[in-house]
Amino acid sequence: TSRPESLAAFWMPFTNNRDFKASPRLLVSASGVHYRDVDGNQILDGTAGLWCVPCGHAQPKIVAAVREMVGQLDFAPTFQMGHPAAFALAEKLMAYTNHRYGHVFYTNSGSEAVDTALKIALAYHKARGEASRTRFIGRERGYHGVGFGGISVGGIAANRKPYGTLLPGVDHLPHTHNLEKNAFTRGEPEYGAHLADELERIVALHDASTIAAVIVEPVAGSTGVLIPPKGYLKRLREICTKHGILLIFDEVITGFGRMTTPFASDYFDVEPDMMTTAKGLTNGTVPMGAVFTKSFVHDAFMDAPAGIELFHGYTYSGHPLACAASLATLEVFEEEKILDHAQGLQEYWVDAVFSLKGLPHVIDLRCIGLIAGIELASIPGKPGARAYGAFKKAFADGVLIRVTGDIIALSPPLVFEKAHIDELFGKLAKILKELD
Ligand code: PMP
Repeated sequence: TSRPESLAAFWMPFTNNRDFKASPRLLVSASGVHYRDVDGNQILDGTAGLWCVPCGHAQPKIVAAVREMVGQLDFAPTFQMGHPAAFALAEKLMAYTNHRYGHVFYTNSGSEAVDTALKIALAYHKARGEASRTRFIGRERGYHGVGFGGISVGGIAANRKPYGTLLPGVDHLPHTHNLEKNAFTRGEPEYGAHLADELERIVALHDASTIAAVIVEPVAGSTGVLIPPKGYLKRLREICTKHGILLIFDEVITGFGRMTTPFASDYFDVEPDMMTTAKGLTNGTVPMGAVFTKSFVHDAFMDAPAGIELFHGYTYSGHPLACAASLATLEVFEEEKILDHAQGLQEYWVDAVFSLKGLPHVIDLRCIGLIAGIELASIPGKPGARAYGAFKKAFADGVLIRVTGDIIALSPPLVFEKAHIDELFGKLAKILKELD
């Protein structure tokens, strides 16, 4: 595969175009834990694509399942009919949650899953005669995709800025990240659980009868791997239960093994009423998202008087290729004991992350499950420039890392081996020592 003649017409997010054009990073193939770029270089994937390839690239069983389905049933309409794989997948997903969730709503992305979960929350309350519950509460530095709902509940003011008010009636809990008190903590920080009580303050401000749901990422990924303080999520759960507010965990990143457990809710032992997922759901192959709901949420509006039934369904909801990919992904999780493998790597991973302590520019290391955040000191007046410099050097040196602001985020495929961890952190250490 050669370079395209022009790099002009496709809009690239987060890219200084001039810089990109000078040294375009174009990926042309992937296998296992490696990418190959247009110049034939092999690149170790330290980010599982975009947090989405737990079982490794081009996993043969998943590839075969998608190939077979595209030749058998390339498309099935969403409405008034179905296809067996969509139902088989729903059963399998419910089993994957140990049947703590009763229903699943298919979407094509994480953003759509978030918007769908918000709609379900409204439908649930309306069906129960509590139509006044229309407000949502997100969290500062939460990322929930690029749909209108997701940007509104998301806690990144810059993402909302161009649009003004989107969804009215949204408040944001403060984030719990505290560099002074929590830097270099392995796992869950001790400080900050009390910030969950801000939810009580917001509830008192508006009255519980106006609030539909709280949505948080259990571990905020895209804004720099922000790990909740010990007990924080449990306190949110208690307060939501007390006031009849639905709790939604956005598990688009944390679902499907990232924490070495099926979901982050298993890891933290806190059950939300809904979970939004995507990414690892199909091992990154075919776009798909899913909203998991407790049965009581689904049953409320399905049993309600006519007119309240939720309208949900995209043309591609439960697409046969996505269902085939997801079924095969779940089989690979079982057969290859992916979670056991991830658990076996956990300590080695944490030690490798903490081996960077004391290197130049490193002001915090955060690590939980198979995910890590490495926060670098900003260059004054040039936020993000240092981490971007690290990204470029790493790519040139054959490892893929992700940067978000001044933070390097790592989330390897769960099938990494110790030798891959050694390579990743060996190269990273060298790069950090050489950085301006
Ligand atoms: N929620 C979270 C927590 C995410 O990390 C993302 C994507 N990074 C999304 C939602 C949006 O997912 P998508 O990009 O598939 O729309």
